[in-house]
Amino acid sequence: MSSPKDRKKLCLVVVDGMRPASLQKAIAEGSAPNFARLIREGYASSECISSFPSLTPVATSTIVTGRGPAEHGVPSMNWYNRDEKRYIDYGISFPASRRSGVITVLKDLVYRINQDHLSPDTPTFFESLENAGIRCACTTYMIYRGPHEHKFVGSGMAGALAGVTGMSRPAYGPTDLLYSDIFDSIGTECRSSFGVPGKRDQHTACAGIELVLADRYEFMLLSFPDNDNWSHRFGPDEQPASIANADAQFQRVLDAAGGYRRFMEDHAVIVVSDHSHSVVHEAIDLVEMLGGHDWEVLQPRKGKKPGDADIAVSPAARAAHIYVLDPAHRGGKLPLLVEDLRREQKIEQVFWLDEDEAYGALGEAEIHFKPGTQYTDRRGVGWDVEGDLIVLDLFVEGDEIHSEEYPDSLARVWSALHCPGAGDLIITPELGYEFLDWGGVAHVGGGTHGSLHKADSAAQLIVTGTGEHRREQRAWSIADVNTLVLEHFGLSTGN
Ligand SMILES: [Zn+2]
Repeated sequence: MSSPKDRKKLCLVVVDGMRPASLQKAIAEGSAPNFARLIREGYASSECISSFPSLTPVATSTIVTGRGPAEHGVPSMNWYNRDEKRYIDYGISFPASRRSGVITVLKDLVYRINQDHLSPDTPTFFESLENAGIRCACTTYMIYRGPHEHKFVGSGMAGALAGVTGMSRPAYGPTDLLYSDIFDSIGTECRSSFGVPGKRDQHTACAGIELVLADRYEFMLLSFPDNDNWSHRFGPDEQPASIANADAQFQRVLDAAGGYRRFMEDHAVIVVSDHSHSVVHEAIDLVEMLGGHDWEVLQPRKGKKPGDADIAVSPAARAAHIYVLDPAHRGGKLPLLVEDLRREQKIEQVFWLDEDEAYGALGEAEIHFKPGTQYTDRRGVGWDVEGDLIVLDLFVEGDEIHSEEYPDSLARVWSALHCPGAGDLIITPELGYEFLDWGGVAHVGGGTHGSLHKADSAAQLIVTGTGEHRREQRAWSIADVNTLVLEHFGLSTGN
């Protein structure tokens, strides 16, 4: 372990939704030279497995805390909050935000996910490092929670919006927080047009340049989110263009330090994507599907009291939570919902809890499992499993249990179902399908993610200049990023 004096700084680069195969293509075309060089000089995995659902709020919370949704408490991109009797949406699409209320969505996205939804019992790496006296800096990233207060500094559109909405509260983050146009701890000229897609990577680069020049961080998170939006619109095969842009924006930060070589003299770098992307051929209207089985679904903000509806649903790309609204009727309604959904051709898996076990169904096939001693998965977790292994395409070799198609699925399903805000059911559609969100939006002809499938879940990891002792690690999870970050600074993760 290095002493603080000779320890390098650490730069974590997050490229939202970067599909490993698309990175390889960009590298082969010569358009991602920095990522290519980091791989050559370090090590990489193209099977760094996302959370379940493999959606940015859940995955980001896992990267930052090193925990799954059961512990960090963020269940999905949108979900039903039983305590507040309302849908939470972190901005899945603008039409969906309009149904939930744009201001409400912004408050949930900017403040409440950090201050209320993310469990106080799972420290972020910003909190762990800052508590150990290590200065951190963060660009615009969904989870930024830390100990330092940051005043709202919105100008232009952000300022005007704050004035009419009362959104100008302080945030609590790392020492430096340069978040969209609303938090700017070092007073930069960087502007992001309030975070519209296509403008975000350049804002991160601008912020990163200022942070490098100010030279007062030991850990810096650079978030490049534009790739995800590009891939949603044009499909994962078009990602090489947006990956090239992320690499070029990263280059600007490197140049501020005097170029790649100079930057690497005093930095280690980790690059991670939070999830991957699969191709969407067709959308599923989940509310209509459930209506066909006579289920009355609670609408967002329609003035309908929950008492009028049987269930709440949170359709989020390639995963959906379903909530039985009246707990007294859960026992009776849950089996009926399971039966209706497992008969639907376009639904792939249906998951739920019963007693102390997790259940999964795929058509007629059914599996149930819980932590135990019968088998061990590739991350060393023990499981007792009974039923049809086909539900998760599991195979057993000796006492090891594994799935190629749905990697790390036992642990991921278990954690998803045990999230306090989880639905009574979580469902995934067949590959190629996506649920319409509450605004009627899907990405047919483009890309999306959310399910357990490796096409959605197998993300990219690159580790350069740190974590050498983990080079031979066999099964990676995005949760390991938290471990790598803390270990770099000599802190234990408690895992
Ligand atoms: Zn996305």
